[in-house]
Amino acid sequence: MTTTLEQSPAATAVRGWLSDFDAALTAGDAAAAAALFTEDCYWRDLISFTWNITTAEGRPAIADMLEQTLTGTRPRNWTITPGEEPAEADGVTEAWIQFETAVGRGRGQLRLRDGRAWTLLTTLYELTGHEEPTRDRRPKGAEHGIHRDRESWLDRREREARELGYETQPYVLVVGGGQGGIALGARLRQLDVPTIVIDKHPRPGDQWRSRYKSLCLHDPVWYDHLPYVKFPDNWPVFAPKDKIADWLESYTRVMELNYWSNTRAVNAAYDESTGEWTVTVERDGIPVVLRPQQLVLATGMSGKPNVPDFPGMDVFRGDQHHSSAHPGPDAYRGKKCVVVGSNNSAFDICGALWENGADVTMVQRSSTHIVRSDSLMDIGLGALYSEDAVAAGMTTEKADLVFASLPYRIMHEFQIPLYDQMRERDKDFYGRLEAAGFDHDWGEDGSGLFMKYLRRGSGYYIDVGAADLVANGDVALVRGQVDHLTEHSVVLTDGTEMPADLVVYATGYGSMNGWAADLISQEVADRVGKVWGLGSDTTKDPGPWEGEQRNMWKPTQQEALWFHGGNLHQSRHYSLYLALQLKARKEGLPTPVYGLQEVHHRS
Ligand SMILES: Cc1cc2nc3c(=O)[nH]c(=O)nc-3n(C[C@H](O)[C@H](O)[C@H](O)COP(=O)(O)OP(=O)(O)OC[C@H]3O[C@@H](n4cnc5c(N)ncnc54)[C@H](O)[C@@H]3O)c2cc1C
Repeated sequence: MTTTLEQSPAATAVRGWLSDFDAALTAGDAAAAAALFTEDCYWRDLISFTWNITTAEGRPAIADMLEQTLTGTRPRNWTITPGEEPAEADGVTEAWIQFETAVGRGRGQLRLRDGRAWTLLTTLYELTGHEEPTRDRRPKGAEHGIHRDRESWLDRREREARELGYETQPYVLVVGGGQGGIALGARLRQLDVPTIVIDKHPRPGDQWRSRYKSLCLHDPVWYDHLPYVKFPDNWPVFAPKDKIADWLESYTRVMELNYWSNTRAVNAAYDESTGEWTVTVERDGIPVVLRPQQLVLATGMSGKPNVPDFPGMDVFRGDQHHSSAHPGPDAYRGKKCVVVGSNNSAFDICGALWENGADVTMVQRSSTHIVRSDSLMDIGLGALYSEDAVAAGMTTEKADLVFASLPYRIMHEFQIPLYDQMRERDKDFYGRLEAAGFDHDWGEDGSGLFMKYLRRGSGYYIDVGAADLVANGDVALVRGQVDHLTEHSVVLTDGTEMPADLVVYATGYGSMNGWAADLISQEVADRVGKVWGLGSDTTKDPGPWEGEQRNMWKPTQQEALWFHGGNLHQSRHYSLYLALQLKARKEGLPTPVYGLQEVHHRS
């Protein structure tokens, strides 16, 4: 007898678990619900129970979360997602699930071990009564019939653009119109939340245009889609920076964003009594005061340059700039160039300078993790974000949820074996790098690039060729600390002196709460604390363990202040949850926040 999928042991186990879970939740019995989890268990919630992005680790934490959220959440109708058959492998049964709450619809992922939940992901994806106007809810567009003084779509868009910010106020102001602000703006538009996205650059996409000439995205196309509009099938795997800039610019128009270019936020203050921000912006140099109720800083985690302060910078006679201001190699053919730093930007810039005939030296201060792009694509991302994954039926949205379903506490355990494979596959490459004296690491626990990104957002290079230049000596490598500059050279603490016509400081970027200090006040920046990192107690990510990325896409210690950003994948995925949190507040839905994060570090 053949077993139909619906009767498969995996489906039966999941259905049984969901039924017990539903019963415990309906009875308001947090302890009984928590007892359905294994002892080492994780429940990651993206706003569906907690109005927060948080992971409860262990049964007591799950019970506590439920005790405080169940009454308001009123979860129900837990089922296996139609068409998604649960599967069992290596003792773990995985299932896609869906459910409803008092305010919306949720989806998630469940992993069972020995009949109990080991990991559970719950996410809210839409608010009942406030669904996005898609598919059969899409706008009609044309108004058939005969209407006097008909207002066309263009009339309406132009009226809105004229009035918003002057005669009417946006509910949300997004400061920063890079890919993050743009993706969030698109989602808020679909949710009918009046929003203005501002950026100081003259055109959307200028964030990428203004970066060094040789830059191409380091992540592949399957990882990079924006919400709603996917890249076409002929889009390059690694988009050149100016091409992605043009895409972002057209996206702002197609998605009907109220995007104010050439507009700089100058200062902002929150009035608790009115629940309103007063934000002064300069639009084309003219001050405009905006009064949004929610303020989102999408000002970029790679936006606030860490510029070192070495003695002698004031006497150096050549060119010197932070990597973010590096124009590209054209002016430096035949020149002596010193690049301080050994991560992504440093390698990209060294490579482009060398290709252009410059004499290049890289100064490495501390160890860097390097992974070859091909290996990262095949081993690190291939299962979820690749042409093979697409052919196997993987969608972007599903891949994002798979990624989200792994609790950060144990994510490194899944990453370490992948990096072990890369280490083996590219061992000749690493041998050559080390022989050249390059200080290489794999992350403090061997978990590689993605964990470094989540923990500290730095310390790595996705190799697209420049590492070989260091390995074979075409780019000279010097290890040490810069002590000072002279009129024509860079001098290290051990006395090594390198003549230089150009010095590039590829020294990374600062925490995003620095933007809050600039725009609002140091007091608010300190209250909100460090942005990014998990509290892993590894370099640049001090403990205690926080379980989620600090301050990103979720409520902060400053009411009505939010941070948004990250790479294209994160911007796409988490903009949904941030947009729903903002929409719920606009509609006056109760949004009690469970587990508002404590602040342990200021920057
Ligand atoms: C060299 C390099 C390579 C990278 N490669 C990749 C990659 O391959 N894939 C990837 O996903 N990410 C990559 N990143 C990371 C990349 O920076 C971010 O993914 C992306 O730019 C973040 O987008 P964002 O919208 O969060 O911030 P940004 O693109 O930095 O945009 C922030 C915007 O805020 C604006 N702004 C700041 N202050 C104000 C103010 N007061 N008023 C008005 N506007 C303001 C700035 O003008 C800027 O346009 C790379 C970064 C660098 C530096």
